[in-house]
Amino acid sequence: MRALCWEGAGALAVRQVPDPELRNDHDMIVRVRRSATSGGDLPLLAGRVPEAAVGEVLGHEFLGEVVEVGPEVRRHRVADRVVVGAAVACGACWFCRQGLLACCDNGTSGPAAEPAWGQPTAGCYGRPARLGGFAGGHAEFVRVPYADVGAFTVPAEVDDDRAVFAADAAPAGWHGVEVGGVAPGDVVAVWGAGAVGQLTAAAAVARGAARVLVVDEHDDRLRMAARHTGAEPLDQRSVDVLAELRERSGGRGPDVCLDASGPPPGPARRPSGGPDAGTALREAVHACRKGGTVVVLGGGAEFVDRFPLGAVTDKGLAVRGGSRAGPGAIPALLDRMARGELVTEHLATHRLPLDRGADGYALFRDRADGCVRAVFTP
Ligand SMILES: [Zn+2]
Repeated sequence: MRALCWEGAGALAVRQVPDPELRNDHDMIVRVRRSATSGGDLPLLAGRVPEAAVGEVLGHEFLGEVVEVGPEVRRHRVADRVVVGAAVACGACWFCRQGLLACCDNGTSGPAAEPAWGQPTAGCYGRPARLGGFAGGHAEFVRVPYADVGAFTVPAEVDDDRAVFAADAAPAGWHGVEVGGVAPGDVVAVWGAGAVGQLTAAAAVARGAARVLVVDEHDDRLRMAARHTGAEPLDQRSVDVLAELRERSGGRGPDVCLDASGPPPGPARRPSGGPDAGTALREAVHACRKGGTVVVLGGGAEFVDRFPLGAVTDKGLAVRGGSRAGPGAIPALLDRMARGELVTEHLATHRLPLDRGADGYALFRDRADGCVRAVFTP
């Protein structure tokens, strides 16, 4: 089959790779109909993930049609149209039973993740074999392990271009406001007006936030966020963000600040130095009201220098992370999409055949031509 593969720092290519096969009784094979670029892929693309190997298939947000099911798969049949959550979770280990599917101990990112994170977390499609080995969705076919846990039938009313964002971008936003404890009447600030930022703002509105402010430096993304979510745009190139946030939150600062800015696209060095992922996080910590909550969503988050720990302790802030929601939220999001309460297709600013995957990633990485997400069709 054809697949979009990592070929080294800054290099992607569509090449022929072996078709996936069922390996376990709970696996199924999906023929991909749509797959989306994601900010979590940018560290890989930039060559900042030392575990990456040439020829590995990228992509963790995809939707497709079931073509083969293992004998233990109960919830899916051939020809079902399904969206697949990015995190690979078993549904049965201690963490999965607590509802922490993104922390699964079985579908894991493997021992190579331990030096960086302390423990491996759930695996993710499209990451290097040394970090789990689940080949990605930028391909004609994908093997979906634990199919009954991670894949969900898409309602007929929801088309592919909307449903593909139920794989990861929308669950990330919903997870962020949930762990942030966003409550009715809250003032919420979101850094980053990409797909995850916009869907985080939409999630905050859906939970009853009184005001939602989105901070970014890209005018087109801010306009899109305002139009589709009702959030108030703050252009960091032209306003004093900290002063504006104070002003618009009764002088206190936002109750919940969410960093959805994602990893920087450039070739930052690990573990420190170079352009870093902490710029938005530091601002969020400074902006947040005393006793408030800061949530870091950043898929592919890395090491951060100059973390303002004193502000966290003296202001009594709660800091939560959650780059991956796990698939648990997907059914409710698909229902919301079916009712027309969650609209996402505008985020697919560039629709391309998979063969132009490298072009799509270049547009996405450079935020060129108004690109929010490139979506591929094999
Ligand atoms: Zn598990």
